[in-house]
Amino acid sequence: MKATSACIGGTAAYDLLREGALLAERLGPQNTPFGESQPIYLCASRFGEFYFLSRHGESGFNLAPSFVNYRANIYALKDLGVRAIVSWSETRAICHNYTIGQYVIVDDLIDETHLRPNTFFENRGLGVVRQWPVFCPSLRKAFATTLEEEGSKFAEHAIYVCIEGPRRETPAEVRKYAALGGELLGTTLAPEVFLAKELQMCYASLCYVAGYAETGSDFRPFEDGHVLDQKSQDQRTAAAVERLPRLLERLTEVLRRTPGVCHCESSMQHHIASGQIGWDWRTWFEGHGSLSGRGDSRRREGGYEFDYEYFLDQQRRRYDHERDDPDTLDQQAEDSTQS
Ligand SMILES: [Zn+2]
Repeated sequence: MKATSACIGGTAAYDLLREGALLAERLGPQNTPFGESQPIYLCASRFGEFYFLSRHGESGFNLAPSFVNYRANIYALKDLGVRAIVSWSETRAICHNYTIGQYVIVDDLIDETHLRPNTFFENRGLGVVRQWPVFCPSLRKAFATTLEEEGSKFAEHAIYVCIEGPRRETPAEVRKYAALGGELLGTTLAPEVFLAKELQMCYASLCYVAGYAETGSDFRPFEDGHVLDQKSQDQRTAAAVERLPRLLERLTEVLRRTPGVCHCESSMQHHIASGQIGWDWRTWFEGHGSLSGRGDSRRREGGYEFDYEYFLDQQRRRYDHERDDPDTLDQQAEDSTQS
């Protein structure tokens, strides 16, 4: 049976794959109208095949979250026939209602990112999509069943705050997120979850807690009257990650018998019904990209030339500018208009 689910994982998950914990065939990066995706693997398990996409590339953490081409990644998975995306994500807890090493099936999100393209439909009047439920309820149910059957400790609810990174949060920012209701903090779920909705795919995230968000204190976390030392913390996180292949295998089997209670596959129905786009999702991007010329990042999109390399360059410049003082910026602007 053709694979219809995929796991998007970070560096720790990719390390498992590289070490042979997952039996996988490398399909490599896929060409899309939005540029090239990160490398994709087809993994085999006792209960069926699934895809794996390494979010940060193949040589360590070489692609920071701000520079991941989320649109190409989601498009490539859709193109392969994926209907359900499992996002495997490391988080840090803002409050002490979560323990280190615990799994959490997040159910809501606060998007604090500001440098990432967050829609496939720039300048097209499309993508007005309701964001509740934020994460696919069928997939979240399947996660819960999987974790129960595997005897893993987990929490079924959390509000995830997605920050831009790569820098860590400040203590004052953590207090702000807590005041907004944030419970876990990470750098990867936005805009992935929004983009998956635009392509009518199921998406949910299985998070694990790797530590606590910055408190501005050097005191170690306390649990059951004992100070939690760094070694125990690292061991628990490593144990949570090591179970990924087993959890994915079990999930592949659980998904087959989980009733679909979601409406993810009709999230663009209102745009289709109004005649703005057709039934076949592939036609939504006709004329907006050319799949010829593999490796060419200049794509037609929304009536203008979208150049992913140019976009990255602009984002890097913006990072640099924010570090400079306003006088220097004014001078740079003057220089660029004169040149
Ligand atoms: Zn769904």
